[in-house]
Amino acid sequence: APRTHWIFGDQLGPHFLEPRHGGPDAHAPVLMIEARSVLRRRRFHRAKAHLVLSAMRHRAAELGDRVRYVQARTYTEGLAEAGFDGGGGRLTVCHPTSRAALDFVTGRDGIDVLPARGFLLAREEFGAWAEEHGSDRLRMEGFYRWMRREHELLMDGDAPAGGTWNLDHDNREPPPRDAKALDVPAPYRPHEDEIDDEVRRDLDRWERDGEVTFVGRDGPRRFPVTRREALAALRRFVAHRLGDFGRYEDAMLAADPVMSHSLLSVPLNLGLLDPAECVERAEQAWRAGEAPLNSVEGFVRQIAGWREYVWQLYWHFGEEYRTRNALRHRAPLPGWFLDLDADAVTANCLSAVLAQVRDTGWTHHIPRLMVLGSRALQDGWDPAAVTDWFHRCFVDGYDWVMLPNVVGMSQYADGGRMTTKPYTSGGAYINKMSDLCKPCAYRPTDRTGEHACPYTAGYWAFLHRHRTALSGNHRMARAVKGLDRLKDLDALLEETSERGDRAP
Ligand code: FAD
Repeated sequence: APRTHWIFGDQLGPHFLEPRHGGPDAHAPVLMIEARSVLRRRRFHRAKAHLVLSAMRHRAAELGDRVRYVQARTYTEGLAEAGFDGGGGRLTVCHPTSRAALDFVTGRDGIDVLPARGFLLAREEFGAWAEEHGSDRLRMEGFYRWMRREHELLMDGDAPAGGTWNLDHDNREPPPRDAKALDVPAPYRPHEDEIDDEVRRDLDRWERDGEVTFVGRDGPRRFPVTRREALAALRRFVAHRLGDFGRYEDAMLAADPVMSHSLLSVPLNLGLLDPAECVERAEQAWRAGEAPLNSVEGFVRQIAGWREYVWQLYWHFGEEYRTRNALRHRAPLPGWFLDLDADAVTANCLSAVLAQVRDTGWTHHIPRLMVLGSRALQDGWDPAAVTDWFHRCFVDGYDWVMLPNVVGMSQYADGGRMTTKPYTSGGAYINKMSDLCKPCAYRPTDRTGEHACPYTAGYWAFLHRHRTALSGNHRMARAVKGLDRLKDLDALLEETSERGDRAP
């Protein structure tokens, strides 16, 4: 008889049940465990809790008689209830996505762990590449070019399609002047069904009973939770929105938070889409003359480059990466930030982005990095607490993707293993790349005084605080030298420290 196959809540696509290439047994019965302790332990965004439960329950409904769906307090109790507490039959499971879950399944008798699915590259293959490239000085660009070659993505023979590997310089345009929104068709949005109604009733009840507490607002579900919805979202993106993806990738518009981004991180991270089909369809669109190379290359770079790189680094860096704190930042997250209290914030960019998180649990990359993450970095918040906040508040947040992105990329807490310099800027960058500064009470050019922009002042205060460490970094040395030209540095430092953790 086939062994029962356990699927986690982020392993919901058909490829997790595909027997070929080391998958589960053919026609394996399926086990799913909805463990409520996960929600009890931490204060998640309500939209995230909704998405994960809705996705799991939709999958169970599709699998029908093939699945045993257990609602339990913990995985251990769920396994016992389903009769797999050691003595029972054997289980298979695809390599889970977090270290805690991997330890859980490898530490138990009767569970066979199968290779990971949902990524382009096997862990062992990355190990060999990292070894060859000096494990401690890895860079995404080298990894990405290697992936392009190995997986024959956007290649013409041995050469990159179009003759260059990297079209990033075409992908940094500010938003079109005076536009409130990009002129592109709207992204795919799903319709809720009775499973969503049931999830909403459960969440309401658990919240009322004081069993769980959430942050963020409830609202109509915005992301795919089934394979069908996920494919519709991918199709719509490639057919109607991919063309503009590149140009405005880094731009922000107050009234158009999504712009031309794909919104595919949720279905990808739930395991509903396979990254291979995403990059293949994008490449086909370019080959068919339906999307320009800079957009297609940019999209392939995000998925076959960044996403894969982050997944591999999560395992490569090891568990101690979680607590890295190279800049010794210890400040707790302020209450207004923890509570997503956008209305308490005066700075227009931060208020707008925090409101997006509060209302949807999602913002695109640049607001995460250059508005939210940068605020945390400039104000010296504890990077582990920042990571926890992102994990809880973002609909696409999982342990594997948060650790390298927040500890490394956004908080520079790894001292430069992930990026070559800290990502932070003054208000001038935000002003150039968005329409957020125009209506703001602060002025991006002002460092001190009543209209001092908290990003501009915060940027210099950050450089000053880490002057010694950063002057040794060749990409930061010039910026650090700029401190010497500031006649108002003392006043600036006094004003920023006076603000303390009040909302800027
Ligand atoms: P698009 O801009 O359309 O990009 C396409 C896809 O590329 C994404 O769907 C995603 O799968 C992938 N991708 C791009 N960059 C990254 C990256 N750095 N890491 C992993 N995948 C990437 N992404 C998550 O999936 N989950 C997270 O929890 C997450 N947290 C982040 C936290 C911070 C501080 C930062 C700076 C980035 C984070 N990212 C995270 C990466 C990126 O911001 C999101 O993947 C992206 O904004 C999701 O929106 P999208 O699907 O429209 O992306």
